[in-house]
Amino acid sequence: MRDFDIAIVGGGMVGAALAGALADTPLRIGLFDNAPFSSEQAPCSSEVLSFDSRVSAIAPSSRQFLADIGAWPAIEAARVSPYTDMQVWDADGTGSIHFSAADIHAQWLGHIVENSVILLGLYESLRHAGNVSQVSPVSIDRFERLADDLQGGIRLHSQDRQSWTATLLIGADGPRSRIRQLADFTTREWDYHHQALVTTVRTGLPHRGTALQRFMPSGPLAFLPLLDKSQQQGSGQHYCSIVWSADPECAANLLAMDDENFAAALGNAIEQRLGSIDWVDRRVAFPLRQRHAVDYVQPNIALVGDAAHTIHPLAGQGVNLGFMDARVLAEEIHRALHSERPLGEFAVLRRYQRARKGHNLGMMGVMEGFKFLFAQDSLPLRWIRNTGMSGINRTGFIKNRLMRQAMGIL
Ligand SMILES: Cc1cc2nc3c(=O)[nH]c(=O)nc-3n(C[C@H](O)[C@H](O)[C@H](O)COP(=O)(O)OP(=O)(O)OC[C@H]3O[C@@H](n4cnc5c(N)ncnc54)[C@H](O)[C@@H]3O)c2cc1C
Repeated sequence: MRDFDIAIVGGGMVGAALAGALADTPLRIGLFDNAPFSSEQAPCSSEVLSFDSRVSAIAPSSRQFLADIGAWPAIEAARVSPYTDMQVWDADGTGSIHFSAADIHAQWLGHIVENSVILLGLYESLRHAGNVSQVSPVSIDRFERLADDLQGGIRLHSQDRQSWTATLLIGADGPRSRIRQLADFTTREWDYHHQALVTTVRTGLPHRGTALQRFMPSGPLAFLPLLDKSQQQGSGQHYCSIVWSADPECAANLLAMDDENFAAALGNAIEQRLGSIDWVDRRVAFPLRQRHAVDYVQPNIALVGDAAHTIHPLAGQGVNLGFMDARVLAEEIHRALHSERPLGEFAVLRRYQRARKGHNLGMMGVMEGFKFLFAQDSLPLRWIRNTGMSGINRTGFIKNRLMRQAMGIL
């Protein structure tokens, strides 16, 4: 008798969502994380108005998934910011695209949600799941395959010398996945030589539910709409989360500036489209690296989310791809249970890989193309991208298709 049927290492957004998607099964699931999650730690629970600097643009397909596993009501009740429009433009020319939910008769393009709010909703829904045991804080350090076990079970070990057995091991432990390394999954990866600087800002003008993205020669800058208190109380406090990608030297300069100079630089960089920046929160920078595991599965082991793939945040797709991994893997596990096949069977796990790898690679290819095109300063390429952007903006069919793809409804 093993401790768990499934051990999910990594209780971040993707691992916790996978546990939620399996909460209606008879399987015994262990959700391991090296940090305890407490909803009191989420900035939205604080009495003082404060924000998580890490946010995600949640596509409608991910929102539906979170609703299906019972997490969305708590997320929505805590704090979400729907956005209906997105304006993208080239700093180095006249090209621009305006995406609008109204063009495809949708209510929203998506929701900007703080990562801690997503976790809060997921953990709230897991409280009602009798088959999911949260094991934290434990750092999983190594594992071995059980040699005398016909089903190829696995024994996990933590840094503090505890151990557990499971039939299926899922690595949901993020970009520097320990499980991926220990299981010797090959990855293709390269450094973007870019850092993503994130923070929250208060702007002079309301965002009106529009996300802004300006492509500069140094990298893209995004303003993602957050709480707008003027909508609620007429008090005129408009907040956005920003993601500013730049080379390490530029990012270091932006981090070193005092708040006043940073606010001025940021206002100029977004062409003052939201008026003056009158407050900035603490700034944090993350190195950006593209990474993709050549395989996502081995007998009795599967990788999901950032453990399998990390992409540039410029189109806000990373966790959306991870949620799709979780949804598809849960479907395959349900199917295996139904047909009484062993959970760790390679053929079962390979169906998950086949369903997800092509899609993830496609999205990564599109991001690479964008990144390449906007990094070029040769005149012909600048002309192509500006003409291309404006052309797409005028061609409803292509624009609407792009929008539907990003929303996960194609
Ligand atoms: C600046 C920035 C902006 C982004 N914006 C967006 C966006 O708008 N939309 C979007 O879709 N995506 C976005 N992303 C990507 C998104 O944040 C990631 O795709 C997402 O966090 C991946 O979730 P995950 O659960 O796979 O991994 P993680 O969030 O990294 O979670 C991994 C978990 O595993 C735990 N863990 C790690 N090692 C161990 C161990 N050995 N033992 C036990 N536990 C362990 C960690 O504590 C953590 O809780 C952005 C990323 C960046 C850097």
